[in-house]
Amino acid sequence: MSRNTTDPPGAAGDRDSAGSETAAGNEGVPIRTYRCSICGRTVRYAGGLPALYPFCCERCKLIDLGRWFNEEYSIDRDLGPEDIADIREDGSLA
Ligand SMILES: [Zn+2]
Repeated sequence: MSRNTTDPPGAAGDRDSAGSETAAGNEGVPIRTYRCSICGRTVRYAGGLPALYPFCCERCKLIDLGRWFNEEYSIDRDLGPEDIADIREDGSLA
């Protein structure tokens, strides 16, 4: 098994957690870390990415969801009729 082949996307620039705490676990599974994108807490995990990635907990996940609902993140323009005009009545693209 080779190292550093499964770094998650978006980890670039996260230099504090990249590999610095990588160590073998009890069964030879490397311990990896990432930073919660909401609160910045370092999360340690072994094996596959946690279901909560890139968050540390359910609460931060909900905070992020709330930001979407509050339109802190948004599409940079409103969708208009031209955006759906290319779809025919049968659902195929024109
Ligand atoms: Zn968090």
